[in-house]
Amino acid sequence: RAFNFCAGPAALPEEVLAQAAAEMLDYQGRGLSVMEMSHRSSDYVAIAETAEQDLRDLLGIGDDYAVLFLQGGASQQFAMVPMNLMGNQGVADYINTGQWSAKAIKEARRFGDVNVVASSEDTRFTTVPPQASWQLSDNAAYVHYTPNETIGGVEYSFIPETRAPLVADFSSSILSRPLDVSRFGLIYAGAQKNIGPAGICVVIVRRDLLGRAGPGVPTMLDYRTHAENDSMYNTPPTYSWYLAGLVFKWLKAQGGLVAMEQTNRRKAEKLYGYIDGSGFYSNPVEPISRSWMNVPFVLADDSLDKRFLAEADAAGLLNLKGHRSVGGMRASIYNAVPEAAVDALIAFMKDFAQRHG
Ligand code: PLP
Repeated sequence: RAFNFCAGPAALPEEVLAQAAAEMLDYQGRGLSVMEMSHRSSDYVAIAETAEQDLRDLLGIGDDYAVLFLQGGASQQFAMVPMNLMGNQGVADYINTGQWSAKAIKEARRFGDVNVVASSEDTRFTTVPPQASWQLSDNAAYVHYTPNETIGGVEYSFIPETRAPLVADFSSSILSRPLDVSRFGLIYAGAQKNIGPAGICVVIVRRDLLGRAGPGVPTMLDYRTHAENDSMYNTPPTYSWYLAGLVFKWLKAQGGLVAMEQTNRRKAEKLYGYIDGSGFYSNPVEPISRSWMNVPFVLADDSLDKRFLAEADAAGLLNLKGHRSVGGMRASIYNAVPEAAVDALIAFMKDFAQRHG
């Protein structure tokens, strides 16, 4: 297999894919595929419950939080969060650190007053505004931020302190290191980076925040519906949920999030270290806010971009093209991307720079 640096849908652990393949036609001697099971069957309910418990174990999620497996991706959460949490205040605070927070802000404005209380636009989104500079509102129902901006490669080095419940879009950095969930009112994350295949979105919500949706909120968009029905009010994306469960088992077998943190730190330090010292490649993000998961970089001469990508592809290093809105390159080095992939990428980059620098 090639090394896949895609930002999402991203690489999955090879062991997970192998197990899914082995169980594809006949799940544990039951004579059918997980895809063909009723979501109400005892076999499937066990798969779903085990996945939830493993996620709770990995992140140390307390019983005062509901864990939901929903559809609609993280983008649907851009609407569900304000629909459920803005309540009578109709006011929320948002931090703008790039394209994903901007999308969340735009959507939330459909439902109430959004105060953008801090923005890193003045640095072209290469920094995280220090919390001391935020002008939090007294009447905000919640504070929303994007801990890891997948496109810009900007990651918060701190968890904000807020009086209002803290809401975070952890789509591209969940499970990359330990996280104190008790600091948050709500966490959401599209699956297709560190959780599993596309088609599912995990929401971790403090139970006291359930039941705040107004009467006009559709049943399917009310968190309480899903919390009261174990995310099976309707037919869930059963196969994605099963694969997420295999990923959670794999993470446990790796040593959990403490082990992932060590590996991810090493991977990121190696790659940024090489880029900074190369004189040929560069990354614009302030060092303390550099993402461990998404590493954008540009070549000194962008007329070489096409050649870089074609040669990388031929060398089995896939999906290094930067987001269409920013160009350049981006290496996404999520949990399932092994350190050997980063080593191979650096070796390729060195060789390329030597030949073209
Ligand atoms: N938020 C972040 C930080 C993302 O990286 C993405 C997708 O890449 C999204 C939201 C949107 O997720 P989805 O495509 O699941 O709606």
